[in-house]
Amino acid sequence: MKSGIYIVATPIGNLNDISFRAKEVLNEADVIACEDTRVTKKLFSLLGLNHKKTFIAFHDHNEDEKAQILIDYVNQGLAVAQVSDAGSPLISDPGFHLIKQCHRQGVDVYAIPGPCALICALQLSGLPTNSFMFAGFIPNKDKARADLFNKLKDIETTLVFYETANRLLKTLHTAADVFKDREIAVAREITKIYEECRNGTARELIAHFEENEPKGEIVLMVAPPDENQKTQIDVEALLREELQKQSLKGAVKALVEQYGLNKNEVYDLALKIKNE
Ligand code: SAM
Repeated sequence: MKSGIYIVATPIGNLNDISFRAKEVLNEADVIACEDTRVTKKLFSLLGLNHKKTFIAFHDHNEDEKAQILIDYVNQGLAVAQVSDAGSPLISDPGFHLIKQCHRQGVDVYAIPGPCALICALQLSGLPTNSFMFAGFIPNKDKARADLFNKLKDIETTLVFYETANRLLKTLHTAADVFKDREIAVAREITKIYEECRNGTARELIAHFEENEPKGEIVLMVAPPDENQKTQIDVEALLREELQKQSLKGAVKALVEQYGLNKNEVYDLALKIKNE
């Protein structure tokens, strides 16, 4: 096996989803970098893989510090496999800093593809897949969540987020305020026994999940805006209103942040209004 860093995807719920190549690489690698050594050792045991090798805990809190150690192993001629607890490493999971360092230091990197919750969710959703934007985990704080949704709401792609069961209802309430009647899909427990994908407006989904407590792992997706649903905003009117309330800089910042507008254009317009 060639030395290098191997990014290895593992199952997100169904053990049979491990690929032949992933098994081969995990079996033969000298070092396994994993988020939680107990979780990965259990996977090795379930798959009957050779676990007589070095397991290194590699997670969000020590990624920078451990990245160089892993690269040093590769420079000694060893093969290092990186896995997360489940699914595809680097996708809302550790690994980005390691791979960036590999590029800087000319270290070979290989991707061993496999399960990824966001891709499976999109496939199940019935929402457009020709163009989508993955925006990671939804913030827990109400304002941060509303700000994020407002920033993304006019983007003409399907939006994909990771979410947890205990926050789903709060998130759907924010979604109802921002996305109104747009179609939303909630994919749960993908590849597991209770896998489901439920579609509806945010209000319909709230009604459902108030009756049926959401459980398990969740991907939430929002359909792109229809032409007639796109926010039509009168930037000039809003800017005039803001300029009554605050400084030019503050007014520009407020509009840019709230509506995702081009800063220079809003600034020029604000100057024009001020100089009238
Ligand atoms: N890197 C992983 C991937 O992309 O497959 C995701 C890791 S992230 C820390 C975990 C989140 O992925 C969960 O909170 C959930 O939003 C989503 N997820 C993982 N497995 C899932 C599953 N079986 N069904 C639905 N969502 C899942």
